[in-house]
Amino acid sequence: MKKILVTGGAGFIGSHLCERLLKDGNEVICLDNYFTGSKSNIIHLIDNPYFELVRHDITMPFFIEVDEIYNLACPASPVHYQYNPIKTIKTSVMGSINMLGLAKRIKAKILQASTSEVYGDPDIHPQPETYWGNVNPIGSRSCYDEGKRCAESLFVNYHKQNNVRIKIVRIFNTYGPNMHPNDGRVISNFIVQALQNKPITIYGDGTQTRSFQYVDDLVEGLIRMMNTDDSVTGPVNIGNPGEFTMIELAEKILSLTGSKSTIEYYPLPEDDPTQRKPDISLAKKVLDNWNPEIDLEQGLIKTINYFKNKI
Ligand code: NAD
Ligand code: UDP
Repeated sequence: MKKILVTGGAGFIGSHLCERLLKDGNEVICLDNYFTGSKSNIIHLIDNPYFELVRHDITMPFFIEVDEIYNLACPASPVHYQYNPIKTIKTSVMGSINMLGLAKRIKAKILQASTSEVYGDPDIHPQPETYWGNVNPIGSRSCYDEGKRCAESLFVNYHKQNNVRIKIVRIFNTYGPNMHPNDGRVISNFIVQALQNKPITIYGDGTQTRSFQYVDDLVEGLIRMMNTDDSVTGPVNIGNPGEFTMIELAEKILSLTGSKSTIEYYPLPEDDPTQRKPDISLAKKVLDNWNPEIDLEQGLIKTINYFKNKI
């Protein structure tokens, strides 16, 4: 039995990861400050004697003995990470320093939840890990993008300088149950709007693209990455290469929900990337033929059912 710390464990992805790690027979410590996460995401795990919940903020040091650390703590929705941009940077930078310092002291393996946002508004398509990105360092997304880029640098340098056993994954847009209904990300927004027969809010002309990954596929990828041998440090893209415009996404959700919603167009937020699609050849190679199994329609049906019960 491994003892595993999951920071951001009460969030959307973290809650699925905690559940899966417990199912696999591990002891799990879930750390969260509940900024965007919620106890309701992990309430069903609380009676499990191998599950522990800690209210803590990773911008402050934290001491514990564990075998592995999954560092997921960080708001991920543009609405939430822009609410307090300085805190977002502190979470990525000071939080990573605290968790890397912990990993160094206790010789734990540590995985960083990085993001496709390190590629910014990419001029190479699809994006391989070798692409350095096109990020505006002073734009409204920079607190998140540059914070995550700095975190990658910290991980790489703790590895080079202190032999910390690191794993960096660049996660592409992920969705599924346990997303907050007011999360602000496109899939939760469109589903909640469709279920309530309210207008679907497309930002810009809706021709921008994203590649959407169902959360179970991501969790499988994260665990496989943690289990690679120490020579595999990443970064490794984890995402589903299926690419859709926001208009296609809206139409799919309208048809799957049978909604009467109309579509309304709003201004495109600053620096909103025009296209995004992962090159997952490296993930397939180093993660034992990992491949996303759940296509957009299957994943949307599961997510729509979740939101039907939630709202
Ligand atoms: P989320 O907002 O649901 O979860 C983040 C969790 O971290 C929340 O529970 C929040 O309360 C907690 N948190 C935030 N700041 C904290 C702090 N300072 N100390 C302790 N806890 C803190 O978002 P998510 O979608 O589950 O994302 C999880 C991780 O994956 C994030 O690091 C995010 O950047 C990364 N990621 C997610 C996506 C995606 O599409 N969902 C894509 C790329 C990367
Ligand atoms: N978006 C949209 N309507 C919404 C929310 C988002 O059209 O109600 C767009 C947003 O402008 C972006 C895409 O959907 O082009 C994905 O946005 P999200 O916030 O989910 O993720 P990110 O931009 O970080 O990839």
